[in-house]
Order: sequence, then structure tokens, then C-alpha cells
Amino acid sequence: MIEQALSKVQEGIASQIKAISTGRGVASNASAFNELVKAKVSLEGMLPTKTTAKVSTLIKCEHCGEENTKAMHGRWHGDKCKKK
Ligand SMILES: [Zn+2]
Repeated sequence: MIEQALSKVQEGIASQIKAISTGRGVASNASAFNELVKAKVSLEGMLPTKTTAKVSTLIKCEHCGEENTKAMHGRWHGDKCKKK
């Protein structure tokens, strides 16, 4: 859904740039253009980033409370935790 909205906004920005470059109603298009850019930035902020995707795969150790990736958790925590 966010991706679709984002591509719509990007289409809008592209058409605004086209309108501005032809010199028709530059002043009114400039504020519409700013709104589109703001919308684009906020939509991009809603997209799941690589960082949040990585965080969601972390596993919390029941013994020491550390959060680690599945690989690290299996290697150093859980049943193998030093604080067990
Ligand atoms: Zn641990």
C-alpha cells in the first residue's frame, strides 16, 4: 500500500517538474510541488527499512536479556548462555 502511494506521489512530482519547466503557473505549482515532496518524505519514512527488518528478527535471551540475531543467539545464548 505504501509503495503504491509512494509511486503515485512520485508521478505527481514528475508532472509538477514538467509543468514548472514549461513555465506555466510556476508560483502555484511550486507550493503543490513542496506538498508532494513532503508527502514523499513521510511515505518513505513509513516504509520498513533494513534496520527495522533486522531488529524484528532479533531473539531475546531469557537468561541475560541480550537481543541477538538467530545465529548469534543459537551460538552464545539460550541453553548456551554464560549467565544461565
Ligand atoms: Zn544470554
